[in-house]
Amino acid sequence: MLERNEGFANLAAGYLFPEVAKRRREFQAKHPDAKIISLGVGNTTEPLTKHITKAMTDYAKGLGTSKGYSGYGDEQGLTELREKIAKVIYPDLINADEVFISDGAKCDIARIQTLFGRKTPIAVQDPAYPVYIDGSVISGAAGKANAKGAHKNVTYLPCTAENNFFPDLTKIKPNTLIYFCSPNNPTGVASTKKQLKALVDYANKNGCIIIYDNAYFAFIRDPSLPKTIYEIPGSKKCAIEINSFSKLAGFTGVRLGWSVVPSALKFADGTPIRQDWNRVMTTLFNGASNIAQHGGLACLDEEGQKETKELVDYYLENAKLIKEALTSKTFKDANVKVYYTGDSPYLWVHFPGWKSWDIFDKILNDCNIVTTPGSGFGPSGESYIRFSSFGHRNDVKEACKRLLKFKF
Ligand SMILES: *Cc1c(COP(=O)(O)O)cnc(C)c1O
Repeated sequence: MLERNEGFANLAAGYLFPEVAKRRREFQAKHPDAKIISLGVGNTTEPLTKHITKAMTDYAKGLGTSKGYSGYGDEQGLTELREKIAKVIYPDLINADEVFISDGAKCDIARIQTLFGRKTPIAVQDPAYPVYIDGSVISGAAGKANAKGAHKNVTYLPCTAENNFFPDLTKIKPNTLIYFCSPNNPTGVASTKKQLKALVDYANKNGCIIIYDNAYFAFIRDPSLPKTIYEIPGSKKCAIEINSFSKLAGFTGVRLGWSVVPSALKFADGTPIRQDWNRVMTTLFNGASNIAQHGGLACLDEEGQKETKELVDYYLENAKLIKEALTSKTFKDANVKVYYTGDSPYLWVHFPGWKSWDIFDKILNDCNIVTTPGSGFGPSGESYIRFSSFGHRNDVKEACKRLLKFKF
């Protein structure tokens, strides 16, 4: 018999989304007529835009001809797409050869963990997107969990209303790999220039590397907020940015993302990190789908940019409607606080005196709405609920109507 990778034994049971699905199923079985609406998932719902769809269908049709056929491409991605990302997303900040195309941000977050030594300490925001920790647990870097579920080699950085959802950086030990997500999933908070400057300065001073998950940058509407970590001076010496077309253009199912590994980033022994990342991409990955990459090219055209802005605006409008419902009198009287600035698809909502799962059950029961309990993203998420604005407008409007009738 073969030995199991002990990282898997150290994983916490996949509790959050299976448990949400189970409670939803049980409720539906008991109330077959209830028309349940989900404001729970982080999955896009609206169709791909016309220009992008046309580019992908045209390319796919071409693949069926001798002239248009192509097999494997460069593992790092189409040069044209790398150049376009550099030019459109990182004007004058990043070179095309620092951009690597992938099949999605989650996949890159998982692969990137192969770059660092097994004993590299990790720091994460609490609450956080689960992949940072779970990926580190599987790779062995996070170590065993204690009785409370906290992993030995992970520093949890509470992000709460008290600290404006920006962590106390002094808790991070030197030479740590810091996962940082902004605009954040689940809190929806987008960090300011000043905050990111503090993060970058701290990382540079203490030999840390930041994995900056920027999957929601397209939702930023406040012009004073940075749209990439590379707007911060000094970031090219300490930050890898992971990004995606998923939330930008509804590519959650199409699958396309990218990472930026600046040439100036080095390991302790002086090896450029970019060199090893190039090796990971060529050895463990064989390039993103060529159809998806042509969709990505179209997305960054003028036409595509206009369309995807409208697509993101649609979700932002949903979020505005949900915020209005959650700031109505019933919720105000119960001291419910909605943390939402309009720069993300998620509303992070505090229900003082409630446990996340209890308020989840009550909203499911009274409004037939599925949400996501904040405690599932980490201990600092307790008493919070994440409302997602990914949904069809009619469903969102109906959900808001039901929320307006909610009683504590
Ligand atoms: C949705 C999401 C992603 C995107 O992942 P893909 O694999 O590109 O679909 C990345 N990070 C966070 C925090 C997300 O919520």
